Amino acid sequence: MIQTLKTYFGYDSFRPLQKEIIENLLNHKDSLVLMPTGGGKSICYQLPALLSEGTAVVVSPLISLMKDQVEALRANGIAAGALNSSIDETESANLRRACIEGKLKLLYISPEKLINEVDYLFRDMSISLFAIDEAHCISQWGHDFRPEYTQIGILKEKFPDIPVIALTATADKITREDIIRQMHLQNPRIFISSFDRPNLSLAVKKNYKKKEKIKTILELIDRHPEQSGIIYCLSRKKTEEIAEELSDNGINCAYYHAGMGAEKRNQAQEDFINDRVQVVCATIAFGMGIDKSNVRWVVHYNLPKSIESFYQEIGRAGRDGLPSETILFYSLEDLILLTKFAMDSKQQDINMEKLNRMQQYAEADICRRRILLSYFSETAKCDCGNCDVCRNPRERFDGSVIVQKALSAIVRTDQQAGQGMLIDILRGMYTPEVMNRGYDKLKTFGAGREIPSRDWQDYLLQMLQLGYFEIAYNEKNHLKITENGTNVLFGREKAMLVTIKREEKNISNRKGSRRKTPVNKELPLGIEAGESRELFEELRALRKQLA
Ligand code: ADP
Ligand code: MG
Repeated sequence: MIQTLKTYFGYDSFRPLQKEIIENLLNHKDSLVLMPTGGGKSICYQLPALLSEGTAVVVSPLISLMKDQVEALRANGIAAGALNSSIDETESANLRRACIEGKLKLLYISPEKLINEVDYLFRDMSISLFAIDEAHCISQWGHDFRPEYTQIGILKEKFPDIPVIALTATADKITREDIIRQMHLQNPRIFISSFDRPNLSLAVKKNYKKKEKIKTILELIDRHPEQSGIIYCLSRKKTEEIAEELSDNGINCAYYHAGMGAEKRNQAQEDFINDRVQVVCATIAFGMGIDKSNVRWVVHYNLPKSIESFYQEIGRAGRDGLPSETILFYSLEDLILLTKFAMDSKQQDINMEKLNRMQQYAEADICRRRILLSYFSETAKCDCGNCDVCRNPRERFDGSVIVQKALSAIVRTDQQAGQGMLIDILRGMYTPEVMNRGYDKLKTFGAGREIPSRDWQDYLLQMLQLGYFEIAYNEKNHLKITENGTNVLFGREKAMLVTIKREEKNISNRKGSRRKTPVNKELPLGIEAGESRELFEELRALRKQLA
């Protein structure tokens, strides 16, 4: 294995988990691999492909991704090809022949094409393994659901003896389970490498106006002279606008979005990869599979739609392991726009839930890295020291008793209660739902009576972000205790909560009237007063419509 690694890829050793994953595949076992972007997932199926008889079939969602991979493989002297809508009939015929004659080690294929080939080409060739890249696309719980992917499950039905490896950089626990179920993986081994990227600093800037954002970005560029960076924007128009703004400031800058035609897009990408431009302003269309090691910073000009997207996008910085900066700009306007998108989407509930979690991250007073790692069910420990919250810590207290009360209520309801129900139980409310389920007989009923309901909401959010419980959004949003939570429940660990400070903030009326309106408490936590009134109203209307 090491010999092949060295000969074909030029590396001396394996990265964590790579060897185990490759061995599992060579033993004809199914695997699910979770490894952050840049972790080295490709080798996990490319090397077994070289060491096995026959051709490995690799499913990949993006034509550009396939192209890059095939070129890189060929450059290393490995016979590889890609079957997708971008090649003509002659090419396709040649490729098929090569497959049937067993001349290819790896065949990349788009999910659309794959379905057509299952009963034809695949029957005529000898297949060593199936690799499903970006496997989260198969799950509607994932952040990038692609309907074409759902048909991939057919592979295990048609070819039960061929091992399958599913790989992804982003999948929370529920998505993971869904991938396994939908692909019909047989007793898969699940490999999860740490998602922690300690070299990335994390910062959130709230309610910055355009001028302030540009200033912040220019300072960032100044801090990293002659180094690359990516700016993610919500709209195509914005990418062009920001690129122009930065160009006016003497920055060598390109933009990139799905509306600009393959050629221009490729040009922008190539220019960035080869350091001909320093900065790319892009929509989320940019970056999947881009392997550029020296990206020193990533800015989110707008709020992303989920923590998965956010994490994947900041993950494009600092792939060489050197310190890199990330900045997220967060504003109410973005939140409203994204709420609209989420509501218009097919997966309304899930997308709203994901957006909520993204918003909570942006507003949190808890180590941001810990929130991210908890989100991916990683048992995170202490504060990271490399995020804006850790550098400017909030006042905290030992909240172990509060946390224990909530957690024991979760356990006593057999983890069958959502957040609202849990608060009712803790506060000792005799609501019909509580009584119907007999929760008023629980030992914890009323155990948190002294804490007002909205403080409970705040503490529960903190507990979620500290990773003490998870929300099973595929199970009516019931709360489920985690390992971190168990540690606090049994007194093995202290739970430090952020002290809640409630200032009665006032929205100043634009017309300057002295009438002051208190902030509506139904609104999400932390939205600052002083924002324009219409925005509040709109967001509230949207939420009401949802409810
Ligand atoms: P992923 O698909 O997980 O995002 P890739 O497979 O594209 O990551 O690999 C990311 C980078 O890491 C590539 O440049 C790859 O060549 C490099 N890499 C992978 N495995 C090793 C290894 N064992 N030693 C050194 N570099 C590696
Ligand atoms: Mg990859």
